[in-house]
Amino acid sequence: MISDLDQFCAQYGCTPSLRIEAPGRVNLIGEHIDYIGGCVMPVAIEPKITLLVAPESNGGKIELWSAEQEDTKYKISPKDFTPKTIPEEHWLNYAIGVMGAYAEQGVMTPGCRVGIFSTLPAGAGLSSSAALETAFALLIEELSGQSCSILERALRCQRAEHEWVGVPCGIMDQLSVGAGLKNHALLIDCQEQSIKPVRLPKELNLVVADSGVKHALADGEYRERRQACEAALEILHENSWRNISLESVLKNQDALGDRLFKRARHAVTEMQRVNEFSDALINNQIPKMAQLMQDSHNSLRDDFEVSCPELDVLVDAGFAFGVEKGHAGSRMTGAGFGGSTIHLVHESIASSFIEHLRSRYQKAFGRELNCFITQASDGARLQPLNTLKPAL
Ligand code: ADP
Ligand code: MG
Repeated sequence: MISDLDQFCAQYGCTPSLRIEAPGRVNLIGEHIDYIGGCVMPVAIEPKITLLVAPESNGGKIELWSAEQEDTKYKISPKDFTPKTIPEEHWLNYAIGVMGAYAEQGVMTPGCRVGIFSTLPAGAGLSSSAALETAFALLIEELSGQSCSILERALRCQRAEHEWVGVPCGIMDQLSVGAGLKNHALLIDCQEQSIKPVRLPKELNLVVADSGVKHALADGEYRERRQACEAALEILHENSWRNISLESVLKNQDALGDRLFKRARHAVTEMQRVNEFSDALINNQIPKMAQLMQDSHNSLRDDFEVSCPELDVLVDAGFAFGVEKGHAGSRMTGAGFGGSTIHLVHESIASSFIEHLRSRYQKAFGRELNCFITQASDGARLQPLNTLKPAL
């Protein structure tokens, strides 16, 4: 197999001097509540997006090429673009959008050549979009010499996704990609915009199953959930979901109507589950963690209606394996409508657990499951320059 570095050299005829890596993420619990100011518990994972960069004056132009997407090499001046110049679904929006968000702050992107490489499946609910944005943010900061905090970086990336890609995402993905910590989950308070790392038990592995069902976040479903939460908040006469109890949602069932009632019930119960899950994690109460992940999945399936048959089969298969045999919880992860599931399992049974999921999936849908073990990893980072030597 040709290395990233050799591919870069073949593509551009020069050697990169900068490597930037940005991980994907899974979310252990706290789904669809980052954009309503809840707490969430993501983990940065090993699959990642890598940028190789050759800083070149290049007449101020930026050359971009993604090994995963297509053969086209783009040569652009960011100032020639505004949101909607390029169709929203085009991947260039993530890169140029981040350049735009930095330009708004007076930070311009110097000329360079960029190769994008990835071990992170795109559109699988593992946040390749935030990884791509954050990698570009680090690139701009490094080349311009103007760095900013992890929070400010995440906010600029989020703005790029809102304005250039048209996805009204919360802040969880960009913060988890930016702030990931080896062996830890992150308890992120999306209202306070604060992050507390929580150590994961050493003996637990993360197993990710990519259903292969591609979600399309930019289509109306994600937006509908956000708007439903806003509409429910208004009916409940509150300005923050943090002030709303389950009792209040139940009392207002008629006023909310069936759809908004279910959306609201997910919002308040999921917020409560995150609190309980972080306590259970700190106290190593595995059966409790498993139960909370199951409740979370059921709520996403029945009340928030963002699951799909493939995710449900994978989660059911996870629980069928048995907590007594080393299973510690399963759930859909990410925005849903396809994408991936996350499973916590004891390291001693991780391989047999994967076999179990694969065979259940094959039986139910007649196709192979992409499933892998991963660990909690560090957030986006620059790699030392002197490690880059082409083999060719
Ligand atoms: P997720 O973030 O869950 O992977 P999204 O739909 O939010 O899903 O983002 C996926 C999009 O991100 C892709 O359609 C593509 O535009 C962009 N993307 C992801 N990985 C790459 C890559 N390696 N090169 C170019 N664009 C990518
Ligand atoms: Mg995304």
